[in-house]
This record gives sequence, C-alpha cells and structure tokens, in this order.
Amino acid sequence: MPIINRIADFIPDMVAWRHDLHQYPEIGLEEVRTSAFVVEKLREFGVDEVVAGIAKTGVVGVIRGQGQGGRAIGLRADIDALPIQEETGLAYASRNPGRMHACGHDGHTTMLLGAARYLAETRNFDGTAYVIFQPAEENLGGAQHMVKEGLFERFPMEQVFAMHNWPSIPEGTFMWRNGPIMAAVANIEIRITGKGAHGAMPHQGTDPVVIAAHIVTALQSIVARNLEPVEAGVVTIGHIQGGDTWNVIPESVLLRGTARWFRDEVGDLLEARVKELVPGIAAAFGARAEVSFERAYPATVNDPAATGRAIAAATAVVGEAKVAELPKPTMGGEDFAFMLNAKPGSYIMLGGARGPNDPQVHHPRYDFNDTILPIGASYFATLVEQLLPRA
Ligand SMILES: [Zn+2]
Ligand SMILES: [Zn+2]
Repeated sequence: MPIINRIADFIPDMVAWRHDLHQYPEIGLEEVRTSAFVVEKLREFGVDEVVAGIAKTGVVGVIRGQGQGGRAIGLRADIDALPIQEETGLAYASRNPGRMHACGHDGHTTMLLGAARYLAETRNFDGTAYVIFQPAEENLGGAQHMVKEGLFERFPMEQVFAMHNWPSIPEGTFMWRNGPIMAAVANIEIRITGKGAHGAMPHQGTDPVVIAAHIVTALQSIVARNLEPVEAGVVTIGHIQGGDTWNVIPESVLLRGTARWFRDEVGDLLEARVKELVPGIAAAFGARAEVSFERAYPATVNDPAATGRAIAAATAVVGEAKVAELPKPTMGGEDFAFMLNAKPGSYIMLGGARGPNDPQVHHPRYDFNDTILPIGASYFATLVEQLLPRA
C-alpha cells in the first residue's frame, strides 16, 4: 500500500470514527457532539494543546515536532453535515432525522484525526502542525468566523492546506489546480409585490407571477448577453414561491437564486445587472421588486508554490500516475476561500469513486468511501513532514 505504514495500522479505528460521526451528523454551528468527539480524540492522542470553541464549535489542535524550529503549517478539515434526510440504508446511517453527512465531512474529519494521531505519536518534523477542525462549511462560512476570531493570530502559520473528497474522481487519485479552483458565491433574493386579484379578473390586479416569469427569463440574458463569452459566470434561480391555488392571483412572489464567478469584475457585473433588471422589469409592469445580492464566499484561489508542495506530498503517497491537474475549476463554492484569502495555501481534491454511478456529494444516497481514509491521512501527515523537515 502506498500509504504510511503506521497510518495503515489505524484503519480499523478510522473506519469506526467515521461511522460514529456519520451516525450523528450535525449542521453548521450546531456540531456540539462532533466537536466534543474531536476534542476527546485529540486529547487521547497526546496533542500538545487542544483549543475548542473557536467559531462556536471549531477546534484547533497544536502538535509540536521534535525540532526547535519556529515554522508552522495548518491542516484544515470541515466537520459539518447537511439538512438532508439520508437514504443510504446503511447500518451506520444517520440517526439524526433530516441531517446527513452528505458531503463527506465525516471522512475529512476522520482523515485529519488520523493524521493528528500519527503526528502526535511520531513527531518526525521540526516546527508546529496545527490541525484545524472547522464548523459550518455549508452556507454559513465557518472558515470566515474562525479567521475573524483570530485563527491566524492565535496560531501563526506559513501556509494552510485542505482537501475535499470527490466521488466522480477515481478512488485514490488526487487532483490539483493552480489559481481559482472553486467559484465565488452570492445568494440572490427577490421579492416582487404586485396586486392580488381573482384569477378570472386579472385586469383588476398586477400579477406578480407573470412578472416573476419575465424576471427569471431576463436574468438568463446576463450571462448570455452581458458577460464576455470567455469569462465564467452563473445566474440560477432555484426557488419560486407565490400563490396558493388555481384561481387566485397572489399579491407577491419570492425568488431565490445563486450567482457564481471567479473574477471580482465578473461578480460586480452580475450584481449590477441583477439589480438593474429586477426592479426595472417590475416597474415596467407596474409592480415593485426588492432585490438583494448577498456575497457569501469569495473564490477559492490556490497559491502556486503551496500547490507545488501539495503535489509533492500527494505524489509521495499515491505515486505520480495518480496525481493529475484538474482540467477545469468548478462553479461550486467552498468557504476555505476565506482562509486562502488570509494565508497562502492549497485546496486539493481526492477521488473517491467506486464506480461510474456513485451518488455525488449532497445526494441522499451518497456515502464517503472509507478506502481513501488512510490516503487522506497520509497526505496530511506527509505535507507536515515534507514542509517542516527535521534538520
Ligand atoms: Zn458540501
Ligand atoms: Zn463539502
């Protein structure tokens, strides 16, 4: 096996931890049990310091190497679950109704715990490794909370690294990318207020449903007609809510959507056009519309030098043939972006595909692939040993 031998010894324990975490998923900033689980394990491993309660449920473990050097790096795992009802039927399926580890953060947490145990036991490095267990990756920006609460001042580090399992990439293959790897995200919310009426007497009202239809269509012209074709951007409306029955024109309609981009200028353009089109169209029909374009996550941008180190560590674990460049970034969002805005580092994908038809992340039948647990743990441990070598 290409993984670190000592970490291979931990496989039964890591699988047990992962299944335990999987059974008790907790969503963002509510990860009380998960956080306590991490603290207990880190203490058990003999980690030098365990600091809990950063961004409510975040935990940082401090592991000092054998040398006296002052250098330090950070390794980050996200710990939160999603508000999804699990449909895997697994023996270790979620016991929390409406909650599921559908993005594999149970696996990320376990891989970083495996690395922490190995690093605390061997300490075959010079300097300090910080293991960062971050809450609320999904939607709530736990990384931003940790940065705001002084993560990098309290635990000064040169670089920070993270990894995400990816069920469409072959099992055990790492994929890296320089520059932007994940997109910036904004949440769009639109409230159209017209005038309710009987459905058979539309002339007596101002129909917000018809206006909503025009707005949804017009928003599609932003990427198609305003954005330079070689740039990347998305405007999606994912939620329309208004009205209750066949024959009533409602008073108002609510639309919710998402915008995605990589370059700041593109984000500014998307925002400006959404804010021009929506009230303009509503006004043209004699209605009002309020629109908010709330920027949630910046783009996740990898530092080329740090990515070079990530590639070297990944190659040491799985071999050159299983380390490849991700050909395109994804329009998905990731709050590790906030850490990368504050510190150079790199975010890498680790494939977990068992076959071509695996359910993808955020699907109710998705399940993290335990085979990659020791690979991810070995990657994190190798990064520390390679970046903070003993003299
Ligand atoms: Zn996710
Ligand atoms: Zn995720």
